[in-house]
Amino acid sequence: MSAPPAEGLEQSARLIGVRHQWAYLYAMGPVKSCGGPWREPEAAGFAGFPHINFERKIFMVVVMKPGTEQGEIDRLVDQLQNLGLIVSVTNGVGCSILGLVGDTAAVDMGKITTNENVERVMRVQEPYKKANRKFHPADTVVQVGGAKVGGGNFSVIAGPCSVESKEQIIQVARDVKASGAALLRGGAFKPRTSPYSFQGMGLDGLKLLEEARAATGLPIVTEIMTPKYCDIFEEKVDLVQVGARNMQNFDLLKEVGKMSKPVLLKRGLSNSYEEWIMSAEYIMSEGNQNVILCERGIRTFETYTRNTLDVSAVPAIKRMSHLPVIIDPSHSGGYYWLVEPLALAAVAAGADGLIIEVHNDPANAKCDGQQSLTPERFQALMDKLRPLVELMDKTLVEPD
Ligand code: PEP
Ligand code: MN
Repeated sequence: MSAPPAEGLEQSARLIGVRHQWAYLYAMGPVKSCGGPWREPEAAGFAGFPHINFERKIFMVVVMKPGTEQGEIDRLVDQLQNLGLIVSVTNGVGCSILGLVGDTAAVDMGKITTNENVERVMRVQEPYKKANRKFHPADTVVQVGGAKVGGGNFSVIAGPCSVESKEQIIQVARDVKASGAALLRGGAFKPRTSPYSFQGMGLDGLKLLEEARAATGLPIVTEIMTPKYCDIFEEKVDLVQVGARNMQNFDLLKEVGKMSKPVLLKRGLSNSYEEWIMSAEYIMSEGNQNVILCERGIRTFETYTRNTLDVSAVPAIKRMSHLPVIIDPSHSGGYYWLVEPLALAAVAAGADGLIIEVHNDPANAKCDGQQSLTPERFQALMDKLRPLVELMDKTLVEPD
């Protein structure tokens, strides 16, 4: 590599993408540090990485808190330069960003993070905008019928995995309402792994859900599997669920984004937070801002439970996005005895609600009986939940 250039980093480089703790910067010309001495990449600690093409500088990115005084920024830049790093100060949206090149192994990331003027140490800009908390600091509150989710409102959605009969859905609706559920769930269209399994009652099931709503006043939540039913769901359903298996069905997401009804977007079985938020972004970019995210357990190496509840999703997603986050402890654990502990963990982690499978006769349920609570067990869970929701400074939304 040759001598330092005359121009600054901002003019000579273009940020092409960022991942994890690193930003990858493609240097279109030679790069210099701002203010500090020029260091050859080898001297800056890259000598041990012969596979690195030095035309592609690896950068760590420090995002400063908005309003940080220049003197504080300069102090941090000095500290970092004293560690042998090349530091470039650039202005992002509303805040200053430090791009670092050098032997980052020598950098104590914890030390940078604990600087009270540092917002975070990571990528420059996320690929999502509408769902991004940076551009919308306040929590979004999603209104579903008379119920609210988010911004301190904790709502419980309960009901059977599938609608099976009029008696079943109305009875379960009455029971869960009596225990404090604010919304009724019930699958009419079921995404089953096997084509030979019960596929749901379809449009007849939707009619029964409407009857259960009429009988109890509970808003209804049910899964949409194809864009062809968007009009029907728009008319009949209060909260439109996009299931885990359709989280990246982008055509469906776009159509649901044109609806006026709020959407419950479940996390895909093996999807990252960013992919999940990007799916919400698909919906929001079409105009529908009322998205609730639902963590429902992810696939891991563990087979003892149906899935693994990723409880970190709650605080992490809330940090990334302003959208409400709820937990589905039923599909996470896959067993009725796991539902209560996982539900309580969800409340403690700061979730904005729960969606729980409740069946009046789990042993004979057509779908997911093993993970369904009886109405009695659901009542016991709600009794434990109430004080915990209060402890978390949230209000349990009671049914109308
Ligand atoms: C469901 O809620 O019944 C369901 C099928 O959930 P998931 O998409 O999370 O598997
Ligand atoms: Mn189910």
